[in-house]
Amino acid sequence: MEGDDKPSPQICTVVAIDHTNFSYRVCSVCEKTLPDNASATAATSSSSFSLCKYCNFNNAFNHGPSTSKRLFRILMSIASDTKVFVVVMFDRAARVLFGCSADEFFDFAKLHPFSAETAAKVLEGEMLRVTLSKPKNGNAQHQRVVSVVPLRSGFRPAIETLRELYGVRSVS
Ligand SMILES: [Zn+2]
Repeated sequence: MEGDDKPSPQICTVVAIDHTNFSYRVCSVCEKTLPDNASATAATSSSSFSLCKYCNFNNAFNHGPSTSKRLFRILMSIASDTKVFVVVMFDRAARVLFGCSADEFFDFAKLHPFSAETAAKVLEGEMLRVTLSKPKNGNAQHQRVVSVVPLRSGFRPAIETLRELYGVRSVS
């Protein structure tokens, strides 16, 4: 047997997706997490909102101010053949299920209320082949989704279903 701590894929079904907190903001240059509440630092600066202190300090004279972008971070309950458990899914895996970037989804959701709830509902019940990484220390709350492969032959990413539901033509 080769390395039994190597994560192995397993078949799971999506039970529920936490739609209340889909994404978080990071610096678009260094990808450090930024405070999500734009008003937190607004008092100190009129135009910029919680920009990356690190990059702005280093790049202020070279590249102008850094910007922010969103990445997915999604909590999801999945059921294996033996148990139901909660995993955390980060940007790369979440894009497979959503079919767009977190920024695109966020912008779409701003124009179309209940997008997040609907996306969560759309993805419930999907069968997935997921590879999970075991928490490396006792502090990690949840196993992390390393990769995800939808198994249903007619699977469509959530954003495609949403565009159809809301009557938005895809611009790609
Ligand atoms: Zn930065």
